Amino acid sequence: MASTFPSDDHAAPIVIVGAGQAGGMAARCLREVGYRGAVIIVGDEAHLPYERPPLSKAVLADEQVPDVSLMPASFYAEHGIDLKTGTRAIRLDADRRQVELEDGAILSFSSCLLATGGRARQLPLCAGAAAAVHTLRTLDDALRLREAMRTANSVLIIGGGFLGLEIASTARMRGLEAMLVEQAPQLLERALPPLLSRWLGERAAAHGVQLHLNASLASLSEDAGGVRAVLGDGATLRADLAVVAVGLAPEVTLAREAGLRIDAHNGGIVVDAHCRTSAASVFAAGDCTSRPHAATGALVRLESWQNANEQARIAAAAMLGIDTAPAATPWFWTDQFGCNVQMLGHRDPALDYYVRGTLPSGCESGKALLFGVREGRLEHVVAINAGGDLRAFRDAVDQPLACAPQALCDPDAPAKQLARLALGRART
Ligand SMILES: Cc1cc2nc3c(=O)[nH]c(=O)nc-3n(C[C@H](O)[C@H](O)[C@H](O)COP(=O)(O)OP(=O)(O)OC[C@H]3O[C@@H](n4cnc5c(N)ncnc54)[C@H](O)[C@@H]3O)c2cc1C
Repeated sequence: MASTFPSDDHAAPIVIVGAGQAGGMAARCLREVGYRGAVIIVGDEAHLPYERPPLSKAVLADEQVPDVSLMPASFYAEHGIDLKTGTRAIRLDADRRQVELEDGAILSFSSCLLATGGRARQLPLCAGAAAAVHTLRTLDDALRLREAMRTANSVLIIGGGFLGLEIASTARMRGLEAMLVEQAPQLLERALPPLLSRWLGERAAAHGVQLHLNASLASLSEDAGGVRAVLGDGATLRADLAVVAVGLAPEVTLAREAGLRIDAHNGGIVVDAHCRTSAASVFAAGDCTSRPHAATGALVRLESWQNANEQARIAAAAMLGIDTAPAATPWFWTDQFGCNVQMLGHRDPALDYYVRGTLPSGCESGKALLFGVREGRLEHVVAINAGGDLRAFRDAVDQPLACAPQALCDPDAPAKQLARLALGRART
């Protein structure tokens, strides 16, 4: 395709820091819109940019390691993208438009995209049993954990978020005894309505996970090559290995040291709807950002595959000064305990939920949709084994509901028809 960017060949490169989902996708998007100038990606992992969702699912579960690369190695060469793996960027100078690498090299840029993701949070309490304690953020983490699971009979998971639950689910599939400690009284309290939190807890228990809710970790020590955990109530748990899954710390060191605006609440790099940071010529995308909620404008930090891809697309366009569609409605999925759970929009405790179908109990299969509504607006839709039905509601989220919410629960009407009803476009 002919370039539409006259200064492509002469301008300083676009430098992308972080060779993950957002970094890799942004480089691809730059080429897709016809940019022919130099693009450099700097990534501190040894791998090609890869997808993380399979790490807690197929990679942990399978005997073969599936190929998780975002694009094949040949893609970067064929598209003239200079991919520097195993290389850490250590300094950003936004005024001089320069990034310094750990080997002392200085890269000048016309625009810089920070796509630095985040690091798994650690628990200082676990330092004494470090050899048997794992986290799961990178491919190398997943391969280490997978190897450790081969000879282990039991695993202790600390943290009952999506990641902790997926690890528990995969561990049970592999026949390990799984214990999960969560300090909140319910699983995923902030991400799911209480009805679904309880359901997920029951589902995990039905699959043999020993759940310890409302439980704090008082200590964790090494025990005969494994770990011994003491909970706040004095209970003791012993496992061959432990996984700490207590969330992500956004990686914002470069941005903070360069004086970019950081969200004091969620720790992300503050960006606008075009992924522009507080420094001219510096953009950010993916898990490291704090971005405006499309409907309310409130800053939110999203950790999802779709958000990384959407922000990569938007940042690529913004760096070139071209228009592009706004970010799609947030979408997230998780696979656990034989269920595929997908979500559209944002969860908020103020939402009232309406259920279409029946949540599959125990280990049964079945499908359901949950509609989260506030003051006549549809704000959140959750699908249990009903991803196809969920898609029909993409345009209806964050819109006023044109029908009573109960009307969406009709089990006999096809999802597309219900979505038209929600939007007031029902055919007569
Ligand atoms: C195990 C696991 C399972 C997941 N499952 C799901 C799922 O089912 N559904 C879903 O929607 N999402 C899921 N996610 C989330 C999704 O993968 C992330 O939201 C997505 O990877 C974010 O992309 P990113 O580019 O922002 O960050 P990343 O993919 O983390 O990439 C950031 C990269 O930047 C590098 N980096 C950081 N600082 C520097 C520096 N100074 N110099 C050079 N390189 C640097 C990092 O090492 C990393 O390689 C999962 C995540 C994990 C870890």
